[in-house]
Amino acid sequence: MEKRSKGVNIKNLSKIYIGANNNEFKAVDNISVDIRPGEFVTLLGPSGCGKTTTLRMIAGFEIPTMGEIYLGGDKINDLPPDKRDSAMVFQSYALFPHYNIYDNIAYGLKLKKISKDEIKNKVDNIIELVGLKGMENRYPNQLSGGQQQRVALARALVMEPGVLLFDEPLSNLDAKLRVYMRTEIRKIQQKVGITAVYVTHDQSEAMSLSDRIIIMNKGIIEQVGTPKEVYYTPKTEFVADFIGTANFISATIDSVENGIAEVSICGKKMSIPYKGDKKGGSACKLVLRPEAVEIGREGFLEGKVTLSTFMGSYQDYVVKVGEEEVKIQHNNPQVKEIFNEGENVKVSFSPYNVHII
Ligand code: ATP
Repeated sequence: MEKRSKGVNIKNLSKIYIGANNNEFKAVDNISVDIRPGEFVTLLGPSGCGKTTTLRMIAGFEIPTMGEIYLGGDKINDLPPDKRDSAMVFQSYALFPHYNIYDNIAYGLKLKKISKDEIKNKVDNIIELVGLKGMENRYPNQLSGGQQQRVALARALVMEPGVLLFDEPLSNLDAKLRVYMRTEIRKIQQKVGITAVYVTHDQSEAMSLSDRIIIMNKGIIEQVGTPKEVYYTPKTEFVADFIGTANFISATIDSVENGIAEVSICGKKMSIPYKGDKKGGSACKLVLRPEAVEIGREGFLEGKVTLSTFMGSYQDYVVKVGEEEVKIQHNNPQVKEIFNEGENVKVSFSPYNVHII
């Protein structure tokens, strides 16, 4: 397949829906983001945050109220979906039930003026790529959900679009197949080098697939970053909470100097690397992942175990430290190391594992 992936540039994009009482509802609120050619980017956020509306505006199924969308540098706002150099993979697969697999995949190419031989060549290549060889003559109802999703993917890929758009494509599959298919999608996307924009509300799907994740909330972008960036350096409490589990410990910044913040936490002091713009005297939250907190007889802060749950490969704790409830995930516990509810313990963490917001 020819490599011709394109970048997507979104500038000040908004979508306002008008409700029954003429009420305006801002589903997407002035978002801007640049997606690089060949990049796999996920729109992630809770239900109703505006991710599908954003994707549908890129595809041309929704008209933006304001703002611009560029594909490969060309403004595409005014183009109908079939004139845009994009292809969408839907949650519902949207296959033609009365066409066999070959014809489903070839459908879009047949609408173009391409020779039969060329169509066959392209379709055969894609069938091979998505692992459907030998199934060309079957009909969609003779395929499993995962296989139907491959057909939907092949049908989009065969058009060699500048960008591939995915609208929660794995939602109809069972949990195990979802995990398998997401690695397949990633492998195929990387092999072809195509730009992909993928909508999901499943954070593990977003983490495992994406070069970068766009985290949306109530129509705005909270953060754009690599999976590691959004996990380790969340910009907001919303991001930290939406991606994995996080503790938010109240603290005070005493001073900031040379990239180090002196912070008071529950009556103790800690020097923490800090690149933000808070000044000495400001209140802050320390974002601390449960797996980055240690529990033991010796340590930094005193606490009492209020919950201790055996999870097999790890122990889940909640420890009350002053006014804070600190969630801790302690890996591979030995039976003798497990602390029980009511026990006095110490909790510790490295300043390098703390992120100040
Ligand atoms: P989900 O994961 O549930 O699909 P989402 O993040 O994709 O959520 P959108 O489908 O983009 O959210 O919807 C954003 C908001 O806009 C929602 O509150 C939704 O109710 C509203 N909305 C979407 N389509 C319309 C429409 N055609 N008319 C009015 N409101 C709409």
